[in-house]
Amino acid sequence: VDPGAKYKRVVLKLSGEVLRGGKSGDPIDAATLEKTSLQVKEVHDLGVEVCVVIGGGNIFRGLNGEKRGVDRTTGDYMGMLATVINGLALMDCLEKMGVTTRVQSAIPMNQIAEPFILRRAMRHLEKGRVVIFVAGTGNPYFSTDTTAALRASEMHADIILKATKVDGIYDKDPKKFPDAVKYDEITFIDALKQRLNVMDSTAFSLCLDNNVPILVFDLNSEHSIKRAILGEKVGTLVHS
Ligand code: UDP
Repeated sequence: VDPGAKYKRVVLKLSGEVLRGGKSGDPIDAATLEKTSLQVKEVHDLGVEVCVVIGGGNIFRGLNGEKRGVDRTTGDYMGMLATVINGLALMDCLEKMGVTTRVQSAIPMNQIAEPFILRRAMRHLEKGRVVIFVAGTGNPYFSTDTTAALRASEMHADIILKATKVDGIYDKDPKKFPDAVKYDEITFIDALKQRLNVMDSTAFSLCLDNNVPILVFDLNSEHSIKRAILGEKVGTLVHS
């Protein structure tokens, strides 16, 4: 591991939207996919063990299913399948860059991905493979943020790196209030007290209970994941 690396094992939570194309607007845009994959590769190249939990919101969200006439649970399964599609895209792109990956699915689909097996996932990391977790937790009514919290706890990861489109957590919505102040770090309890929206409440309480810190940062700023791992002040750190 690079001696400057602050973390040995990380769970990187990528929302599905990080694959959407700026220009094309496609749910999975080739250039955006490549940019995102490069950020993952940079961290992998530091010798840090990387697990990725990928979302599916660029393709389908369970809650939006109801608008389309499908039940919440059906919609949630559709959303979980969307994460599989994204995970495969990421796998393919990373492999083309020379990064060995394994995709593990919470819902068995053996032709497409390995089933999720904790010990096997650990072994992949030890062998320097990037593990991509897809299909969320495998259960409706959960999110991929909760998946990240669960996998980070199970895998004993040092931190969850939550990539978003904002550069951290503010005391109020920076889009609405120009005087909003960004936190460099905040404790779980203060985040709760101030009702800051770090993650959904299920995901948040899992992190709180299991002592998994969360770094919320902007994926679009250059080399942001790598800089965060090397200890630069990036985003907002939520810790106990
Ligand atoms: N989902 C689910 N259970 C899980 C994880 C995800 O039912 O454990 C479904 C849920 O419908 C969700 C969708 O998959 O809306 C996509 O995941 P998410 O919204 O977390 O993706 P992101 O916003 O990160 O792209």
